[in-house]
Amino acid sequence: MKLPILAYGTPSLRKKSVNIEPDYPDLKKLIDDMFETMYASVGVGLAAPQVGLNIRLFVVDTSPFAEDYPDGKGFKRVFINAVINESSGKEWAFNEGCLCVPEVREDVMRCETIQIDYYDENFVFHSETFSGIRSRVIQHEYDHTEGILFVDRLSSLKKMIIKRKLTDISKGVIKPKYKMIFPSQKKHIN
Ligand code: ZN
Repeated sequence: MKLPILAYGTPSLRKKSVNIEPDYPDLKKLIDDMFETMYASVGVGLAAPQVGLNIRLFVVDTSPFAEDYPDGKGFKRVFINAVINESSGKEWAFNEGCLCVPEVREDVMRCETIQIDYYDENFVFHSETFSGIRSRVIQHEYDHTEGILFVDRLSSLKKMIIKRKLTDISKGVIKPKYKMIFPSQKKHIN
């Protein structure tokens, strides 16, 4: 089932998410629905807060980047209760977008490498290091669970330039290609 995505300006997108337990209700279905929603809206990652659940869960599939970034191929993962312990390496720019912020794309600087602890969809613990495009997408989704959006990471000049677009999104005066819930609709899932 495809889930509607909360638009920029929705207060819960700014909340820090909480850990979940293995017995979280219908977790498998939620993960399936998140992948379905992500693929349908042509995203490479989706975090639970984007669909109205402030829990520490996100999914990624970086395969669409494989042509330009070979290590993106087949990298499909579920991250639960993730903690980034260390960020290292040189910061690099990559043109990011976000399903909560349709039609806005900007270069974002992020660290090359992260060390992350997380549980997978079977609640098996992993402690891993990722670099490049994998690290990039994980950092973007991880930010969602911390209440941070990619536009927060832009320079004040860039923020000023996109301000109008962000206001339009939060007021719902856009036509997204997928189902969204705007702040004024107050019809949140949780
Ligand atoms: Zn996003």
